[in-house]
Amino acid sequence: MILIDGKKVAAEVRAGVKRDVERLKRKFGRAPSLAVVLVGEDPASQVYVRNKEKACEEAGIVSRTWRLDARTEQSHLERLVLELGSSDDIDGVLVQLPLPEPFDSSTCLCLMDPRKDVDGFHPENVGRLSLELPGLRPCTPAGVMALLEYYALSPSGKKAVVLGRSNIVGKPMAMMLAASGPFANATVTVCHSRTPDIARECREADFLICAVGKAKLVTKDMVKPGAVVIDVGMNRDENGKLCGDVDFEGVKDVASAITPVPGGVGPMTIAMLMVNTVNAFRWRMESVIEEE
Ligand code: NAP
Repeated sequence: MILIDGKKVAAEVRAGVKRDVERLKRKFGRAPSLAVVLVGEDPASQVYVRNKEKACEEAGIVSRTWRLDARTEQSHLERLVLELGSSDDIDGVLVQLPLPEPFDSSTCLCLMDPRKDVDGFHPENVGRLSLELPGLRPCTPAGVMALLEYYALSPSGKKAVVLGRSNIVGKPMAMMLAASGPFANATVTVCHSRTPDIARECREADFLICAVGKAKLVTKDMVKPGAVVIDVGMNRDENGKLCGDVDFEGVKDVASAITPVPGGVGPMTIAMLMVNTVNAFRWRMESVIEEE
């Protein structure tokens, strides 16, 4: 059984990003920069934003965080997103989700400059993913694909089941697995809360990707022997301990490869955000040079 080490792979990806940043700095005369917008005081969002700032610092990416009060007007947030989009020295923009009530996140996402949309949630980037055109890809599913590739676990010609159909994980995950290419080409089933019998669907899966948000939902009896099991979920168990959507202790005995929680998919998400920020910088700078 392969225990997929997301921490190790993420560290390698981040070291590669650091080297790219140094090279790009020499070529373009400045480092890439990321603008993060945080609205309100949600403790989990504050931790995520701090981790992003730290990762940027380590990689040599300039990061700046705009902290807005939860009572800020939606129009103020929208103006800020537009200003960051048109600012020449900002390469990546990210609005930390979820926004507190009653903010409307989809309007904000649509106002973002798609070339700076390092989360890959703008409709243009979603369209680019669906058309298999180059673009900024959502970080978590991109991190899953990078893990599969690192461990040479190709889903090509295999049956993949994705649990969850959210815009940030489930849907883009299914598109990436079903895309053409040696580390894709899967036949994909997407399950959600209205799927009548997820256990039966899961048992068919050679690749099982779980992104539901329910602690230990997937048990050993639901997993095909030899399946690759990727656990995106981040939950607390009955003792308050961090756990995934998969009952790791039981499932590890039947899976051929599995990600732990923590230390699996989680570290890859931030690593892929760093990759997206560098790509956003490089593509924009190269297009500026072409236009000159
Ligand atoms: P989400 O927006 O709440 O979506 C959950 C999905 O699961 C929905 O599509 C929902 O179906 C489906 N679902 C709910 N109960 C189900 C059930 N019993 N059987 C099958 N499907 C069910 O969540 P998300 O943002 O995609 O996140 C999912 C999990 O991944 C969470 O634990 C989150 O914390 C974690 N996460 C981790 C990372 C990371 O970096 N590791 C990043 C993002 C998210 P409906 O559409 O029908 O409601």
